[in-house]
Amino acid sequence: MSDTSSGSLYVVATPIGNLDDLSPRAARVLAEVALVAAEDTRHSARLLRHLGLHRPLLSLHEHNEAARIERIDACLVAGEDVALISDAGTPLISDPGFVLVRELRARGRRVVPVPGACALVAALSAAGLPTDRFRFEGFLPARSAARRTRLEALADCEATLVCYESPHRIRDTLADIAATLGARRLVLARELTKAFETFLEGSAEVLLARMAADPDQARGEFVIMVAGAEPRAAPAEAAVEGRALLGALLAEGVGVKQAAGVAARLLGGAKKAWYAEAQALKEARESH
Ligand code: SAM
Repeated sequence: MSDTSSGSLYVVATPIGNLDDLSPRAARVLAEVALVAAEDTRHSARLLRHLGLHRPLLSLHEHNEAARIERIDACLVAGEDVALISDAGTPLISDPGFVLVRELRARGRRVVPVPGACALVAALSAAGLPTDRFRFEGFLPARSAARRTRLEALADCEATLVCYESPHRIRDTLADIAATLGARRLVLARELTKAFETFLEGSAEVLLARMAADPDQARGEFVIMVAGAEPRAAPAEAAVEGRALLGALLAEGVGVKQAAGVAARLLGGAKKAWYAEAQALKEARESH
């Protein structure tokens, strides 16, 4: 239950490029709150000036978020409303705010979303990749080894994979996607809602070639969307396919353990189960 005598924290989405994307409700809320908590106060001061507003700003970023909670909560307890904004888009989506929102909710304060632009939703809405299920990974790890490990862990995910990327790492990340996920269909949304908005489509290798031919394609802000993995064969089909595969491998003289490993890698399922299957096939062959 939220405390009705306190003020509310409004979590306000701001534009990701085109200032016209700020909703009238967001503008009204920003005009009415006592305080605006913002990731970068200089950046947000420009937005407020554009709206003709002069609200007090309080910086709230990943390094001081926990320390700001008491100050913001004191406003709410005093019955004043506060807005939370980030540099662009929806706060908490790869942006600060989670620690604050979790704590204020735990204290029974009212937290109100004021929805609007969000790069991942804008990108998905126009990419033509399945949106019934998607997996948002935020920013992938900055180092290539950790990034590849994360991508390998996602290789079997059948949902559309979505992540954010900066111009500094876009090429390296595409190279890692090519190395770990192969030639999957990929859509790259660049500079959404801005003058040079572009959607590029193709495998990671093809997109890297496009960037090599036109370096402007590697500039700006990116949302990477990768088609999900093909569904694995149904268990019954996999069993039939697996027996055929094991039979062929054993006939070639491949050992039971190695054959089981190949079947598990290609068809999924437990290696132990494929081992038992391979062993049974081997015994059946030998008894003939
Ligand atoms: N909170 C924001 C949102 O709602 O989308 C995301 C903030 S995150 C720190 C910034 C990243 O979002 C950028 O590096 C980029 O990957 C993505 N992004 C933000 N604006 C974008 C735009 N106009 N076009 C493409 N990607 C964008």
